[in-house]
Amino acid sequence: MNPRWNGQFSRFDLVARSNSGEPSRSVVCVRNIEIGGDDFVVIAGPCAVESEDQLLSTAEAVSKAGARLLRGGAYKPRSSPYSFQGLGVEGLKILSKAREQTGLAIVTEVMSEEDVGVIAEYADIMQVGTRSMENYALLEALGRCGRPVLLKRGMTATLEELLCSAQILATAGNHEIILCERGIRTFETATRNTLDIAAVPVLKTVSHLPVIVDPSHAAGVRSLVPILARAAAVVGADGLLVEVHPNPDTALSDGEQSLTFREFREMMEDIDPYLALRQEGRQLRPRLVASGGTD
Ligand code: PEP
Ligand code: MN
Repeated sequence: MNPRWNGQFSRFDLVARSNSGEPSRSVVCVRNIEIGGDDFVVIAGPCAVESEDQLLSTAEAVSKAGARLLRGGAYKPRSSPYSFQGLGVEGLKILSKAREQTGLAIVTEVMSEEDVGVIAEYADIMQVGTRSMENYALLEALGRCGRPVLLKRGMTATLEELLCSAQILATAGNHEIILCERGIRTFETATRNTLDIAAVPVLKTVSHLPVIVDPSHAAGVRSLVPILARAAAVVGADGLLVEVHPNPDTALSDGEQSLTFREFREMMEDIDPYLALRQEGRQLRPRLVASGGTD
């Protein structure tokens, strides 16, 4: 383990893990769900809320397959101004209806500090997307929103920069933070992004915050998603954020990386042996900090 870590992350006092003694972990609780505890928590749903039918059918399917939270963007950051931008408040209302019908907690993205209030009325967890990780006005506003924040790593951000944004949230008053590795930009073009799988054990070593993995935006193609999900389980992630759509070929965004209901169910059925490996791996983490060696 890199000896620099013994000092490099120490300035993030609110989000860093203590070097001494038995380290505590923070657990983020929403409704009756604990993220960062013993359970491997799966958040699933479409990239964007497109219609009531699309969302309610997805909510029912992912809930049956074992997801605990429902994702779906009502405000979408799109690279092109001509792409679908999301349903806004109407989308939030559909999300809330899905929660009533299934009991799933809701995760949805917030892009602007102006929308924090209205989204916090509907969402259980506020998602900060990769493009917004360094939107400091947004982070400040989320510090006072009264909801946990799912903070996605910027696509060109180092882990130190990710923790810096987490520290800003915490300093602004919000300590309920979940970190999310979603792949970074590298020279590789075979996948949409490069999943930095090492980010999980590194973050779990230097920070007490829960860490989840988004294999969908990392892969960019659905065939890779279950494989990357297994990798996330083995390296000790606290859960997943996965895109699922009733008919990915007609999705208004990110269809190529969205799983069908059947593929999601199979992914969930296949993951247990990999979670068993993670239990053994858990013992390794504290030693990473303590060693300070160069091996
Ligand atoms: C999303 O979750 O749909 C999304 C836009 O993710 P990211 O910010 O990681 O690209
Ligand atoms: Mn998406």
